[in-house]
Amino acid sequence: MKSAIKVLGVPDDINSSFMRGSSAAPPLIREALYSASSNLFSESGLNLDQEGVWDDLGDIEFTGEVAVENFKKIKTFVKDVLVSDQKLVSLGGDHSVSWPILDAHLDIWGTLDILHIDAHPDLYDSLLGNKLSHASPFARIMEAGRASRLVQVGIRTLNKHQREQAEKFGVEIYQMKDLAKLSSLSFSKPVYCSIDIDALDPAYAPGVSHFEPGGLSTRQLIDCLNGFKGRLIGADIVEYNPKRDFHNLTAMVAAKLLKEVIARIYRDNIKKD
Ligand code: MN
Ligand code: MN
Repeated sequence: MKSAIKVLGVPDDINSSFMRGSSAAPPLIREALYSASSNLFSESGLNLDQEGVWDDLGDIEFTGEVAVENFKKIKTFVKDVLVSDQKLVSLGGDHSVSWPILDAHLDIWGTLDILHIDAHPDLYDSLLGNKLSHASPFARIMEAGRASRLVQVGIRTLNKHQREQAEKFGVEIYQMKDLAKLSSLSFSKPVYCSIDIDALDPAYAPGVSHFEPGGLSTRQLIDCLNGFKGRLIGADIVEYNPKRDFHNLTAMVAAKLLKEVIARIYRDNIKKD
């Protein structure tokens, strides 16, 4: 049976500023998902092994390392999925891929509220001269003016430039140090969620390029995903870097988040009681 939720690997890491490696993530997240050490139930009780819940579209194949070409390919691919009323969860790749993915979502939805979970605000106008950097996707999205809201959770690296960018774009930021205020998070428009694995404390998820201590626990992230009021319509899980991982621990974390995200999209859009 065809499912309304699709999972797509987007193995592009050419816009990483510090270390490449996240392009190897998607197959390892799938492997962790199907590991016999766990099962395919979400915490809410949805069986992801049941036909009709989700389909795997495999990975986008990139033929070169020209960022604009890759972004065009990503946007076209994602839009093709979304036009037939399907929901998409993407597996990165570095965080730069969220721009073309979100751009496609905004073409379809018109406007969206965005929940962005990350150690970093990724609001640089450009980083190291690269406007397409994995540190810049939310500057690109916000300057286009189509997103109705950008809410960032887990941030702990704000510098002067990014603080100014956040102010300019009206970004709502829940820094780690202020996390207690998060319990009342609620959205009125459909929600797209972008999850950078480095939002988690490196103790929970060491397989990331940028270790930023003082982060979320896996439990806090899952509670954030399942706890906000609103309708989740799409998501990405990016920046898992297998090169830095131990015993595929972070792949397991990414797979767990994938299960929870699929279950939430299913609950908010498809499940009929
Ligand atoms: Mn990021
Ligand atoms: Mn990050």
